[in-house]
Amino acid sequence: MRVVVLGAGLVGVASAWYLREDGHEVTVIDRQPGVALETSFANGGQISTSHAEPWANPGTPAKVLRWLGREESPLLWRLRADAAQWAWGLRFLRECTPGRTRRNIVAILRLALYSRALLKDLRPALGLEYDQQERGILHFYTDAAEFAHALPQAELMRQYGCQRVVKSAAECLVIEPALAGSTVPIVGGTYTADDESGDAHKFVVTLAARAAQRGVAFLHGRTVTALSVAGGAVAGVRLDNGATVTADAYVGALGSYTPQLLRPTGIHLPVYPAKGYSVTIPLAADSVAPTVSLTDDGHKIVFSRLGDRLRVAGTAEFTGYDTSINTVRCAAIVKRTLVLFPHAGVGPNVEYWAGLRPATPSNVPVIGATRLTNLYLNTGHGTLGWTMACGTGRLLADLLRGRRPALDPAPYAPM
Ligand SMILES: Cc1cc2nc3c(=O)[nH]c(=O)nc-3n(C[C@H](O)[C@H](O)[C@H](O)COP(=O)(O)OP(=O)(O)OC[C@H]3O[C@@H](n4cnc5c(N)ncnc54)[C@H](O)[C@@H]3O)c2cc1C
Repeated sequence: MRVVVLGAGLVGVASAWYLREDGHEVTVIDRQPGVALETSFANGGQISTSHAEPWANPGTPAKVLRWLGREESPLLWRLRADAAQWAWGLRFLRECTPGRTRRNIVAILRLALYSRALLKDLRPALGLEYDQQERGILHFYTDAAEFAHALPQAELMRQYGCQRVVKSAAECLVIEPALAGSTVPIVGGTYTADDESGDAHKFVVTLAARAAQRGVAFLHGRTVTALSVAGGAVAGVRLDNGATVTADAYVGALGSYTPQLLRPTGIHLPVYPAKGYSVTIPLAADSVAPTVSLTDDGHKIVFSRLGDRLRVAGTAEFTGYDTSINTVRCAAIVKRTLVLFPHAGVGPNVEYWAGLRPATPSNVPVIGATRLTNLYLNTGHGTLGWTMACGTGRLLADLLRGRRPALDPAPYAPM
């Protein structure tokens, strides 16, 4: 079958890889001059099944209200005259009940565990190198209430196969000795030994190169402007140069921009951009910085060691499609880094970056067929696009092929 994948981020490239493995003739189209140059460019670097708890949980609405208007807050809802933002916000609130949170954790966790296992197979098979670290992920807490909140979530995750083990403060310092320099006490943590980290951009570049060697075609620097629809199916994709590309099947993997392309077809996706930031710090020989990937749950930031760089990423801002760098929010990330790692050696050469997570209200992605018979979606991976990339690529390929997937696709089906 001839398949066109729209979007060359983590999700589009992983989809293309598994589609090609199934023998399809695959073309990937992206508006950027290379792969992974938008949201997949400088993320937190975690393969974190242990991060399966979505932002939509019972504790969040009160926090969002408390943080309204506070420029440096971990999760900032900017009140805008934007119907899509308000509709998304209402659906987000609906996902905050204990029952829905639990259901969403299970759906996210199943996919994340499946995906992590596929990545662990793919890496040696293809010889992929991307500054990966297989040293686990430590969630640590500096606030006793946040730590208490994490314990039942960790227990639930253990029930579903994620070995997120509770650790004392002293044990956290043994796992990551750099935390001993923190100017705020660590009260405890949870550690997931099988989680990983690495540079997502390098991963996509390498996977795309392997895919190209196996015959996947990449069309870069072309914006998809519309889907041509005829007879209940996609007849082609129109590009900004006036050309139309046709195929037997189409996969929408445009991240936060997928809803915009679909809207004229009458398909409405609950995906809204959740802006996040990263700070990449070049490390010196005497820098005291973590090597184990860390999650500072209370501040919604993560730390990943990428060779001789430290990537600190996270926080969320609901502000539409604006990708500009807000210096106050970046400064808050640097400030927290220095509180925890005063000797990390944060100099003037830090790189700031912002990306738009394609967020569904539940953080459960949308994968599968639509009512246009040859249009498939793979989007809405929110905070966990890398963690889930291989799994959603494989799942998508299974569905397109009409093969029974290894995990139940129902929770991810486009509505
Ligand atoms: C600060 C931050 C930290 C994060 N940390 C982590 C982490 O530690 N672990 C994790 O698993 N996930 C993390 N994520 C989430 C993860 O990065 C995203 O979920 C993932 O990158 C989404 O990938 P994607 O392929 O769906 O979207 P994208 O990477 O945005 O790819 C979509 C592609 O579509 C292209 N495109 C869009 N519109 C058009 C058009 N009209 N025509 C042609 N091309 C188009 C774009 O150029 C882009 O290349 C983080 C995200 C952020 C912002």
